[in-house]
Amino acid sequence: MKADLTRQWKLLDLQKLDTRLDQLAHRERTLPVQAELDAATARAQTLAEDVVLARTAVQDNQRAVSKADADVQLVRDRAARDRQRLEGGAGSAKELQSLQHELETLARRQAELEDVELEVMERAETLQGELTAKETAQTDAQDTVARLTEQRDKDVADITTEREQVQRDRANVAPGVGQELLDLYEKVREQQGGVGAAALQQKRCTGCGLELVQAELSRIRSAPEDEVLRCEECRRILVRTAESGL
Ligand SMILES: [Zn+2]
Repeated sequence: MKADLTRQWKLLDLQKLDTRLDQLAHRERTLPVQAELDAATARAQTLAEDVVLARTAVQDNQRAVSKADADVQLVRDRAARDRQRLEGGAGSAKELQSLQHELETLARRQAELEDVELEVMERAETLQGELTAKETAQTDAQDTVARLTEQRDKDVADITTEREQVQRDRANVAPGVGQELLDLYEKVREQQGGVGAAALQQKRCTGCGLELVQAELSRIRSAPEDEVLRCEECRRILVRTAESGL
């Protein structure tokens, strides 16, 4: 293949821009803030689930408190009625004795139920404290997610701005390379990990880093200026420059 040396040099410029685009794409894929954001999002999600569980526990216990209140009230009401009947004095001695006995039983029952009531009320305090702590942690986690999202978006925006600039530069440079050379470059670039064209610098291919053997250098020295050369080692397009050491 033939291409003017100026076209070959433009190809080196194009390679620099493509390498930059690859670097930007890599940077965008591996933004450190993205990993932080993913972790923070997972943590916020876990805490949201914890809050739901803690809230359910508070509500369940609230029902237990209401039930304990009602149970105590029931026993109190019954005892109040019994006392009224006792004070009324109606009924046989046996009946009054039975009422007296029931009042004693009710008093014991009331004491037991009040213990239960106290227990669930104390538990309500504990559960509410746990819920508040989870809610605070969740709010903190959400704040962290918001902050990291903002940082990530800013980093991506910076990369996008630079990519757009490089793409504009590339659009200006590419036509100067010429379609035939460009097609070869794209093909080699795909096969060779993103580098399709390399400068020959101080007798070395800057694509693979290897020094060219004498025979190869001789061949290159005698090759016409507009001949498109390939590195024997890596098959990349090898471009002669003022620093080639020929
Ligand atoms: Zn090479």
